[in-house]
Amino acid sequence: MKKIGVLTSGGDAPGMNPAIRAVVRKAIYHDMEVYGVYGGYAGLISGNIKKLELGSVGDIIHRGGTMLLSARCPEFRNKEVQQKGIEQLKAHGIEGLVVIGGDGSYMGAKALTEQGYPCVGVPGTIDNDIPGTDFTIGFDTALNTVIDAIDKIRDTATSHDRTFVIEVMGRDAGDIALWAGLAGGAETILIPEENYNMNDIVERLRKGQERGKKHSIIVVAEGVCSGVDFAKELKELTNNDIRVSVLGHMQRGGSPTAQDRVLASRLGARAVELLMAGRGGRAVGIENNKLVDYDIIEALEQRKHKLDANLFDLSKVLSI
Ligand code: ADP
Repeated sequence: MKKIGVLTSGGDAPGMNPAIRAVVRKAIYHDMEVYGVYGGYAGLISGNIKKLELGSVGDIIHRGGTMLLSARCPEFRNKEVQQKGIEQLKAHGIEGLVVIGGDGSYMGAKALTEQGYPCVGVPGTIDNDIPGTDFTIGFDTALNTVIDAIDKIRDTATSHDRTFVIEVMGRDAGDIALWAGLAGGAETILIPEENYNMNDIVERLRKGQERGKKHSIIVVAEGVCSGVDFAKELKELTNNDIRVSVLGHMQRGGSPTAQDRVLASRLGARAVELLMAGRGGRAVGIENNKLVDYDIIEALEQRKHKLDANLFDLSKVLSI
């Protein structure tokens, strides 16, 4: 392939910019042309496509968000709309497309691939829930944002002898809650993958208080329940002084960590290598610190992202 396109889609994630930069620079290094599709699949169907040069991606490696902008485009589930997207790409002479995004965006890339247009998926989402990779671009940055918040909340929780419920992102995947809870020393972590027992939580709080614990931190993934509702129920059961902090969209922003920038650079460059070799229809990832790629259709249909159950068990051991 000599001409490729790149787009970012769905929820933005810190590290999408370094991924775009890697795609553009790697492609130009190999004498290919790169086109940026602005505004995700919505921009694709409306033809918001512009050629990118080396300088187009200058000074973005440290910026959160995505210079190519992102959008939700529900109508892209429709086959005719997907065809329109393919026509736009073909009209620009673009032979393959790199899609940087989450599981929804991957479905779009899979659909285009099924219609015969070669796409490569690059996992860009803070949720860490893409099959075929141990880590997604943006997860590490979001995690560090949450840790920073937990550390600050811990200071005030200790001063006032309070229990804090911290609601973090993660509708279907508990990775942010689990990793942040473990790294932030939370007493209890609630994730969508595991049922919880309110009596156990109350008992754990009571035991902690008995041995003189000054505070308690409970991390709740948004997919489990609302932090506010959970805190209300817990207050009724314990009469503790309970406060809630819903971290919300701050988890999506910020300068990508070094870890995310390196991951984005590696995955973006690998996506170009695949298209260069004419190998579309792939999903790139990292497993055991090695770059891997899978058939995008097979990855989405047969693989499933799994939360690390050992980490969950460890968090319970360490927070007694
Ligand atoms: P994310 O990529 O972060 O998971 P979404 O789930 O919102 O975000 O998906 C982003 C976009 O991907 C959607 O707005 C839509 O354009 C496209 N998309 C999602 N699901 C499908 C699907 N089943 N088929 C085709 N395109 C899809």
